[in-house]
Amino acid sequence: MGEGLRFQCQPGCTACCEQKGYVYLTEADLVRAATFAGMTARAFERKYVYRTAKQLRLRVPRQAQCHFLRDGGCSIHPAKPTQCRIFPFWPEQVESKQEWKKTAQYCPGMGQGPLIQIELAREQAREMREAYPEQYR
Ligand code: SF4
Repeated sequence: MGEGLRFQCQPGCTACCEQKGYVYLTEADLVRAATFAGMTARAFERKYVYRTAKQLRLRVPRQAQCHFLRDGGCSIHPAKPTQCRIFPFWPEQVESKQEWKKTAQYCPGMGQGPLIQIELAREQAREMREAYPEQYR
């Protein structure tokens, strides 16, 4: 890939949140989101999280992709899970021009805004790998 990638999230857009797929959380994400919602981690987990032996993910409500998605955007934005915060600099997209282009078909922010140095994009991708070892083995 070239020297960098352009990205600027577009106001009012929630296209990435509406994609099918799971939202995984780290243990720190769980505590952060619970605190933001004014709940104990335990209560938040019971209501919103599905825990397997190896990972945590948000439960998917019946009528939407995410419990926290509102018309105006993410209702827990300041405390959103790592994968939401790092999007679109996920390893699969940073490491493949083709995947970047594919994701850009639904994300209008990709290709817009300032040029982000490829090293910064890779750093984000690394953080993502470290946060979700189960997904990136
Ligand atoms: S799809 Fe892209 S532009 Fe739209 S909310 Fe997500 S990151 Fe922002």
